[in-house]
Amino acid sequence: MKLCNILVDGAVRLAVVTERGVVDAAAAGLSMREVIAGADRAPLEAIAADPSLPVAAEPVYANVVDPVGKLVCIGLNYRQHAINTNMPIPKYPVLFSKFADALVPSGAAVELPAWEDSYDYEAELVIVMGREAWGVSREEAKACVFGYTCGNDLSCRDAQMRSGQWLIGKTMPGFGPCGPCIVTADEFDPDEPHAIRSYVNNEKRQDSDITDMIFPVAEIVSYSSRYVHLSPGDLIFTGTPSGVALEGGENKYGWLRAGDEVEIRIDGIGSLRNRLI
Ligand code: MN
Repeated sequence: MKLCNILVDGAVRLAVVTERGVVDAAAAGLSMREVIAGADRAPLEAIAADPSLPVAAEPVYANVVDPVGKLVCIGLNYRQHAINTNMPIPKYPVLFSKFADALVPSGAAVELPAWEDSYDYEAELVIVMGREAWGVSREEAKACVFGYTCGNDLSCRDAQMRSGQWLIGKTMPGFGPCGPCIVTADEFDPDEPHAIRSYVNNEKRQDSDITDMIFPVAEIVSYSSRYVHLSPGDLIFTGTPSGVALEGGENKYGWLRAGDEVEIRIDGIGSLRNRLI
């Protein structure tokens, strides 16, 4: 099933995404965190199946996990992206992180601070953890996943490349948009083909498939869990395919600018849209 958080009268409410649209699920009395922790989903299934319930006309999304814990990220996880950015193909997953205030929902405006200018987008599949994971095997890893969402690993390239540590180029406030919804792991197999695309002002920039990842989801969760104690609701960005502005040296697309809108689409999940200001 697909679940999202929406704002209604200033409060965060769990909602289900149906073929009809987004349906407020407050009547189920559950929060996203409670569902991630394993609450019975039957009341949500009932709400999703009830055609008499109203659909939110223009849902205002809230963060997919609220409050969120860790934001772990994997770099250079698509071969062509590594080649195009003159980076070595990694032998082990490359881990970095964002702070919690990087997370914003679909629809949120993201500020590009005026003291930098090399802003770039990165379409990514994002793992939503469902269980504690500390030193789990590859075989155990996928059972620790609650679901998946779309992410945009917004980056400031000059800051990212200034040292060997990527943090300052990755963790500005709002630089980790995720959403609009979480698709639960029983309905989305990341080892099956799903197109992943990005658009800037409706122009297609990235067009790949999540099965092109160098390290698949099970490997990412297992490896990360040997160094980061993963908890329910933690998010793991899994890397971006080729097509970002950084690539090719010529920067043919130009950096992101205030007024641009970035859309990340992953088949089977949805469309994450954020305007830059
Ligand atoms: Mn990335």
